[in-house]
Parts: sequence; C-alpha cells; structure tokens
Amino acid sequence: MNRYLIVSIHDVAPPFETEVEAILGRVQELGVARCSLLVVPDYHHGGRADWNAAWASRLNRWQAEGHETVLHGFYHQADAAGKNAGFKSRFLRNIYTSCESEFLELDAAEAEKRLRLGLEVFARVGLAAKGFVAPAWLMNEEILKALGKLGFEYTNTLKKIIDLKTGRVSNAWAQVYSSRAAWRRWASVAWNECLWRRNRCLNVVRVSIHPLEYHYPMLWNHLESLVRRSVKGRKTLTYIGFVDRLRVGSA
Ligand SMILES: [Zn+2]
Repeated sequence: MNRYLIVSIHDVAPPFETEVEAILGRVQELGVARCSLLVVPDYHHGGRADWNAAWASRLNRWQAEGHETVLHGFYHQADAAGKNAGFKSRFLRNIYTSCESEFLELDAAEAEKRLRLGLEVFARVGLAAKGFVAPAWLMNEEILKALGKLGFEYTNTLKKIIDLKTGRVSNAWAQVYSSRAAWRRWASVAWNECLWRRNRCLNVVRVSIHPLEYHYPMLWNHLESLVRRSVKGRKTLTYIGFVDRLRVGSA
C-alpha cells in the first residue's frame, strides 16, 4: 500500500510571512519538501495580495519552489452575524473559531462572488488555484455546488479530502492544533497524540499547521515529533498531488 503525508500551512497572509518562511524551512529539514499553502487573498481586509508586490513575489517564490497554493477563503473573517443565525452557527463562529468562519453563512450568490474574486486575485498574482479550503473547514452545501461550477478540482473538510471532478472522497482526519489559549494548547497536544495513533495505520496522514503555532514550544515540539514520525515510510505530497494520484488509482 502506498502511504502519504500531506503537510499544509493555513492562513498564509502578510502578517504571518516570517512564521510561514520559518515553518517551511523547519519542515523541510524534517523531510517535507512540498507543502500546500492555504493563501488568503485579503486577510482580515488588510489589503489584497495583488496590491502588494513584495508579498506577491514571495508567494510566487514559494510556488516556484514546488509548494502548492490553495485558495483559503477571501477575508478569513465572518461578516456580521445575521439576525437569523442559529445556535450552531453562532457556536461555530464565536466559540469554535474566533469569528473566522467566513464561508459558513454565505448564501450561494455571495459565496460565488468571493470565490470569483479570489480566483481573480490568484490569477493577477500568477498563482495556481486548483483547490479551495474554507476557513476552519466550515462551509455549507451551497459552497460545494459553487466550487464545482467554478472548476475547482478539490476541497477538503476536517475529516475528508473531496475530489470535485470525480466525487471520490478520501477519509483523512486532519491533525490540527489550537493555540488560542493555554488550555487549548495542552488539550490539542493530547488530542493529536490520540488521533495520530489512529491515523498512523491509514494510507494518508494530514498535518495542518497554523503560523502562530510556531511560537508555542510545547505545541510546536509535539507537532515536529508528529511530522518526524509520520514522514517515516511515507511519500510527502501536496493536496493536488494526492488528488492526482487518487485519479490514477495509486493512492
Ligand atoms: Zn484558516
């Protein structure tokens, strides 16, 4: 059986440039040559990537080094909550994420508008965008339809990688940490250790990294140990590399 490791870095945006660069260097030392970079076109309304020449050239350099660029929301920030937002939406927005669930409550028209805008920014910067990943992996059914319509090849959720061209779904529960509070950091290290014991038997392991995790030694050391253990006997791929292999039946 072929075995794979996919390492992705979320929230690739100018405020985290230093961390992303450091993380790429570190995981490379651990044997991961290519990562999927989840790029936010206009992170928290701080300015579009295509209006920032230095950032655009940094993104191009990472792409030229073999990393995959993936569209990751547009602003990575939820709009003001609608009056009709239900309990589940409010929980996901305010407690599960820190108001980052941008694509959870968008209607079909607004979602499509933002996806098109994201594709436009990527095209102007010169980046490929074969995949889309919603912030915090939270999206509704309308988004899936819009992704297919706009020609995206795949998306993923916390637990699945979805090939939008063939409809094939791979179960792959992402190893992901939370660094927002000390208790979350401790809990997520314990959780990730348990999850890895389950995931290590599967053909694909996903490690999803957020830039600020680099600053918390206890969490970061565990994450490195996870990558070190996962890379043994596994080929490292980007998401699109994995999806391509799925299609030819070698994943
Ligand atoms: Zn994100």
